[in-house]
Amino acid sequence: MADRKDKVPENIPGPYYVDTTCIECASCADVAPENFTQGEEYYYVYKQPKNDQEHENCQQALEECPVDAIGNDGD
Ligand code: SF4
Repeated sequence: MADRKDKVPENIPGPYYVDTTCIECASCADVAPENFTQGEEYYYVYKQPKNDQEHENCQQALEECPVDAIGNDGD
């Protein structure tokens, strides 16, 4: 489970985030390219989901992250 205390600094504020357990597998950016991208050391959320499709993609990215590095605070 992702830990909000270990958020990657580049994450844009909002419910979804990546933490520092990310292993840069690129899965999230494949599943939700409108929301996740590669940073210096880790992937991160560069845009929070704005429509149903993006919400669905972000949720799928969270579920498919192999190390559970994606969190959703839900607020
Ligand atoms: S799916 Fe998880 S481990 Fe893979 S790049 Fe995204 S946050 Fe990192």
